[in-house]
Amino acid sequence: MTEDNKRGKPPATDQRAMNQPRYTGIPTFMRAPYCPNPAELDIAIVGVPYDGGVTNRSGARHGPREIRNSSSLMRAIHHVSRINPFDICRVGDLGDIELPHLFDIAATVDDIAAFYADLHAAGAAPLSAGGDHAITYPIFKGIAAHRPVGMVHIDAHTDTWDEFLGCKFMHGTPFRRAVEDGLLDPKRTIQIGIRGAQNTEEGWRFSLESGMRVVWMEEFTEMGVEAVIAEARRVVGDGPTYVSFDVDGLDPVFAPGTGAPEVGGLTTIEAQRLIRGLRGLDIVGGDVVEVSPPFDPSGNTALVGATMLYEILCILAEATAKRRTRAT
Ligand code: MN
Ligand code: MN
Repeated sequence: MTEDNKRGKPPATDQRAMNQPRYTGIPTFMRAPYCPNPAELDIAIVGVPYDGGVTNRSGARHGPREIRNSSSLMRAIHHVSRINPFDICRVGDLGDIELPHLFDIAATVDDIAAFYADLHAAGAAPLSAGGDHAITYPIFKGIAAHRPVGMVHIDAHTDTWDEFLGCKFMHGTPFRRAVEDGLLDPKRTIQIGIRGAQNTEEGWRFSLESGMRVVWMEEFTEMGVEAVIAEARRVVGDGPTYVSFDVDGLDPVFAPGTGAPEVGGLTTIEAQRLIRGLRGLDIVGGDVVEVSPPFDPSGNTALVGATMLYEILCILAEATAKRRTRAT
């Protein structure tokens, strides 16, 4: 325990590196301290460089590195909420998960789950940079085994297929597995931005029949951001809530660097307002997935991904600080 903690000051992040010129230093996420020990952190930034669950265009394994690199452009104090997540929480970059069984999908799911179970047991809330969306199911295995979470899910796709080519653990299936395992409460789940043709309706059907609230892109446009925020808050309520952001929920105009782009999506400012609107909920973790640098020649998708991670970080930090106050 530091001297500051003893005096009752909330734990904060060492921000010295972040305040140096932004092109300098080791490119951790926003140049937060590199900290491999989750027990020293309130919020752990984790890279999951894995795209073994992709059905079409791979490349999201390179997402964490480019998201970190782009995050050097960003600074600490949010211009709307005035939250500085680094002042109210100990935020550190844990680095990337090691994946010793990369060519064995089921074993990799177990490896990712074990990593997040350790992180959760150490008391840190996870904020992850993917990787493809298959990573969110093992994240839930690690952090939701003792109670299901609710979810605000921004994506063009519901990711609730049963399987593809016999594989149950790919980026179209994570939330079906999570519901089956009792890790995700479908009645506290809202999926926002859903669109794009499918060859079968079974994923859409599973979402609707399991009780998820599906906000199709057309409904989003008709309702407007504020009404969708109110609906998301109603659906997830007071319980523990995870934010999962697939960058293909955005229109490819803003985020072309992704494996399964679908035109007609959210704008970046709509997505930012949506995340900000979740302030005050009991956010327990989040991720940004499907940033695929090989399809991102301008680098803008990585910057967008890093910015959305920062938006989630702000509301996660506030919720984490509130839980800490309640616990003491
Ligand atoms: Mn997805
Ligand atoms: Mn998607």
